[in-house]
Amino acid sequence: MYKPALLIGTALCAAALGACTTTATDTTMAPTAPTQTAIPQGTGVFADPSGLPFHAPDFTRIQDSDFKPAIEQGMAIEKAEWQAIADNPQAPTFDNTIVALQRTGRMLDRAQRVFSVMTGTVTNDTLDAVDAELSPRLAAHSDALYLNDEIFARVKAVYDNRAAMSMTVEDAVLLEKTYERFVHAGAELSPEAKAQLRDINTRLSALSTEFSQTLTQATKDEALVVSDRAALAGLSDAEITAAATSATERGLDGQYVIALQNTTQQPLLSSLDNRDTRKALYEKSWNRTVGGGDNDTRALIKEIATLRAQKAALFGEPDYASYQMYDRMAETPENAIAFMNGLAAPTAKAQAEDAAAINAMIKAEGGDFTVQPWDWDYYASKVRAEKFDLDDNATKPYFEVNRVLEDGVFFAANKLYGLTFKKRTDIPVWHPTVSVYTVYDADGSELALFYFDPFQRDNKRGGAWMSGFVGQSHLFDEMPVIYNVLNIPPPAEGEPALASFDNVETIFHEFGHALHGMFADQRYPSLSGTATPRDFVEFPSQANEKWAVEPTVLANYARHYETGEPMPAELLQKVQESQTFDQGYALGETLAAAMLDMDWHDLAAGEIPADVNAFEAAALAETGLHTNLVPPRYRTSYFRHVWASGYAAGYYAYLWTEMLSANTGEWFDANGGMTRANGQKFRDTVLSRGGTIDYNDAFRALTGSDPQVQPLLRARGLLDDGQ
Ligand SMILES: [Zn+2]
Repeated sequence: MYKPALLIGTALCAAALGACTTTATDTTMAPTAPTQTAIPQGTGVFADPSGLPFHAPDFTRIQDSDFKPAIEQGMAIEKAEWQAIADNPQAPTFDNTIVALQRTGRMLDRAQRVFSVMTGTVTNDTLDAVDAELSPRLAAHSDALYLNDEIFARVKAVYDNRAAMSMTVEDAVLLEKTYERFVHAGAELSPEAKAQLRDINTRLSALSTEFSQTLTQATKDEALVVSDRAALAGLSDAEITAAATSATERGLDGQYVIALQNTTQQPLLSSLDNRDTRKALYEKSWNRTVGGGDNDTRALIKEIATLRAQKAALFGEPDYASYQMYDRMAETPENAIAFMNGLAAPTAKAQAEDAAAINAMIKAEGGDFTVQPWDWDYYASKVRAEKFDLDDNATKPYFEVNRVLEDGVFFAANKLYGLTFKKRTDIPVWHPTVSVYTVYDADGSELALFYFDPFQRDNKRGGAWMSGFVGQSHLFDEMPVIYNVLNIPPPAEGEPALASFDNVETIFHEFGHALHGMFADQRYPSLSGTATPRDFVEFPSQANEKWAVEPTVLANYARHYETGEPMPAELLQKVQESQTFDQGYALGETLAAAMLDMDWHDLAAGEIPADVNAFEAAALAETGLHTNLVPPRYRTSYFRHVWASGYAAGYYAYLWTEMLSANTGEWFDANGGMTRANGQKFRDTVLSRGGTIDYNDAFRALTGSDPQVQPLLRARGLLDDGQ
């Protein structure tokens, strides 16, 4: 296993970027063994890397009709490439087997990466249909590769000989992870179990696509329609105009539509004065996928959970969580559960205190009710306004989206890492509101291409995420092409795009992922950048959120959109102080969702409940949290992360990585804060290392100790001073 001595090996590489890049194409370009297998030639726009800078996708040439043939060709090519490796008459070696595998599937990768941005951000019926058709075929394709006995025999032969081989650190990690991936995919199962596994995977893939499409449709259909403008009291004119426009777009002229976001709480609940409207909006959200009919996801969920448990059983694991966590930093479900249980009591205590303050506010205003989930944000904002004299409408004029990006996020990246950015207009985009930047490293050399897609759209899926069109690798001498997607409410025609402070934090968060991709310095694409486990990959992104409230950063980007005046010092201070406000809710909704995820994936196949809502209610009651007031951020039936996005038994990772980032924040503070030296150390130990490191070792190399839970609680204001 790769331990400290090996860490030093790749640190040298990270310190010598240029050297690594220039030696990228030597040894592995050695002629590969002659084989009899013919590799088909791809055609169309995805057949070769684009001719644009950084091999950026050429959206001017890409049509919806290109994806299906390109993905089909890509699968055929990859299959032939694998067969050529299997058929190689030479004895298996690291180069002719392990590295050769890294060279396969290039066209499929190009096509799928672009397809993913299209289905995720500008989808339509054509793309949805292609997605639904191809998803199960892609899953079967992947199974066919990883359940290929001839290839696995070669991989195993190389792996079994590893003690006798002399390898670089990265080579050794690649060998280990390649072998593990085959085993995890079922390569060592019996033929009967393999056949069962193939069926399960194909069905699971179809189900998760169906879940995802159903949820997108439900979220759209279940928007709240209001016919009386008076019921929207409390909203700004711009928000009411947006609701009217949204109604017109749906053929509901003269009415108002409040679109749902994919979380339980809805942003406008904090300002709607009318309690009935709040309750109606909340109930639309909470019940969007449990109303029976076409938009109900519960049957899909039961089948997914059952199949996952059956799959785990094929591998001899008691439940899907145990199967899923083999490569995680937390190592076992028990470790993750113990970590979460350690957060429950301080969180519940804060929830009770906050609820009492809110109930006092309700009473003071003459209300004869106690707080319910649909009231929480509304009164919490009032308590916040009273406590901090601060509300979103006071700060929003200072958070113009582009300025947050360029004068906030980019500014911090310059101070920490020496990066500079240049906007460019010559790179085609998938939607006119997307902007593109070249990212330059501290020495002035090109580092990456970065796209920013900030605004909510009806045909964009909810949430925010980072991904890329080209992954960094020295093997292919390719630099990263990265994009960030967010769902900030779009400005009304002619209005500036103003962000809430939550949006601001999300912009910083997603850029933290982008940095992890941009600083990647790996030879092999499968180990590059963000190719790390769920409970590590959210560490760089959460660590980057810290800089949103760093005083010099905040002073630089928080300027009034009309006057350019900096945010007044007292308002700045309030924004910073308010960071620890309402954390019983914020931490509680995430913790409840994370516990719910683990409850669903801690079940054996025979234990999947018949009644999804009853199981959920019982699970939430056992969390030790006040979930009747602070419901989970995602309910079971619209929990896309775990049913369709690869976070199954992994939602805890957001909190685990928050622990890592809070510890790292304290390390920055103890060592001089936002300096180039600290940024460089973070880059050298974590951000540039991709999946080549032992994550616990890397964390110790950065901060000097193992992660502790206290910094997380302290950052959220949930620990008494001095602890
Ligand atoms: Zn993230």
